[in-house]
Amino acid sequence: GKTITFARTIDIPRVVYNFRFFASSILHHVTECTEMATVGCVHYTSRAPVGVAGLISPWNLPLYLLTWKIAPAIACGNTVVAKPSEMTSVTAWMMCKLLEKAGVPHGVVNIVFGVGAKAGEALVCHPDVPVISFTGSTLTAQRITEKSAPHYKRLSLELGGKNPAIIFDDADLSQCIPTTLRSSFANQGEICLCTSRIFVQRGIYSEFLKRFVAEARKWKTGNPSDPTVDMGALISKGHLEKVRNYVKKARAEGARVLCGEGVDSLSLPPGNQKGYFMLPTVIAEVTDESCCMQEEIFGPVTCVVVFDTEEEVIKRANGVKYGLAATVWSSNVGRVHRVAHRLQCGLVWTNCWLVRDLNLPFGGMKASGIGREGAKDSYEFFTEVKTITIKH
Ligand code: ADP
Repeated sequence: GKTITFARTIDIPRVVYNFRFFASSILHHVTECTEMATVGCVHYTSRAPVGVAGLISPWNLPLYLLTWKIAPAIACGNTVVAKPSEMTSVTAWMMCKLLEKAGVPHGVVNIVFGVGAKAGEALVCHPDVPVISFTGSTLTAQRITEKSAPHYKRLSLELGGKNPAIIFDDADLSQCIPTTLRSSFANQGEICLCTSRIFVQRGIYSEFLKRFVAEARKWKTGNPSDPTVDMGALISKGHLEKVRNYVKKARAEGARVLCGEGVDSLSLPPGNQKGYFMLPTVIAEVTDESCCMQEEIFGPVTCVVVFDTEEEVIKRANGVKYGLAATVWSSNVGRVHRVAHRLQCGLVWTNCWLVRDLNLPFGGMKASGIGREGAKDSYEFFTEVKTITIKH
């Protein structure tokens, strides 16, 4: 269901970049060395591959996330056994052919196909796989944690989000509105970094809402192979039902659905009418306690609420179990730093979204995960460190 445009401009370029980035970054790490002159000792650290790395990835950015794990793992000298999502096996299988063509020796990148409970869990429980890098749901991560505990495995868990956008009165709306549309609805809202709670300061609330809804209505939903389409289909029938149910629940709680699901009609080309499509949906007048403001929906649904003060919005933005990413919109440089420091999440984008420097850590706090990945963090995760002392 992913649009061809998203695959061409985001997924695939990033796959290529993941390999290039880690192939060069591995050349530049340094280990540590200290000297204890009084006892005539020099200490230094050395790093070695962990052996076999277990990699488990989800369906939403199938190769983007899989290669984000494979590239650093093999750059550090490991072999990998990777289990892509059973919903997106074909892209991983196609990538295997490319790896072979590129000359990756047999046995270095091993991909197993199958469902999580069988193929994924076999990897998690295998005594010879000392590390597991997982991206997926918080619930599955709990099971992975339990199942791997008897083996003392090192885990990197990159999980869900309920990411806020905080928009202050002095935000540049000409930048903020198109970016917040993207951050809410890109890839059908099926990205863990997508915005799903938009806090707008009272002075600009009505104007923001009017313009945001008007722009959301302009998003083109339809045939994913059409390069002019902004939004394709959701991953499955079951997932579409789950996302639609959230909108239903919001309505039942008294929230107002301003556009999209149940408000506007979706016209699809004849060949796509049985697909799992839904329109970008904006919900307002929803309480912070509502399931739509607390739970990860992972679809094209975003809630817009009003706030008054900086103090208040920080507290409300932090008032969920997740802590992955946030965006802050303001032209007051002091304020963006202040707010960024106090948000409980692993990534804060101010006046932008999804701009990534792979050198720096990626990952979440609270129920959004454990551990970070990125140039240095992945190097540390995929290697075993040893301290060596030399007396002279
Ligand atoms: P999503 O709901 O986004 O599909 P999941 O956490 O179910 O998230 O899936 C992410 C990845 O985890 C998939 O590759 C899936 O097959 C795998 N997976 C699911 N259950 C398990 C499990 N019990 N052990 C290991 N991997 C699993």
